[in-house]
Amino acid sequence: MDVNNITKKYSNGEITVVWKSGLCIHSKKCWTGLPEVFDPRVRPWIRPEGAGTDAIIAQVDKCPSGALSWFRNEDSDE
Ligand code: SF4
Repeated sequence: MDVNNITKKYSNGEITVVWKSGLCIHSKKCWTGLPEVFDPRVRPWIRPEGAGTDAIIAQVDKCPSGALSWFRNEDSDE
């Protein structure tokens, strides 16, 4: 596995946030916009239980690089 290009998933039971490290340009938008969920100083750095689903979706959609995305768990086959 290429440690510079990993995909991580974080679920709150309702939605899953997907983060692709290789696409992240470290713009800081996510963790300045919603620090209750995104905190690069701790592991795991995304804690989807930190805010409501709507707030998480709004923040994920602001990611400028496409590193962050999300899907509804009910739409997933996993
Ligand atoms: S907003 Fe997107 S590109 Fe910026 S730090 Fe967060 S994940 Fe990385």
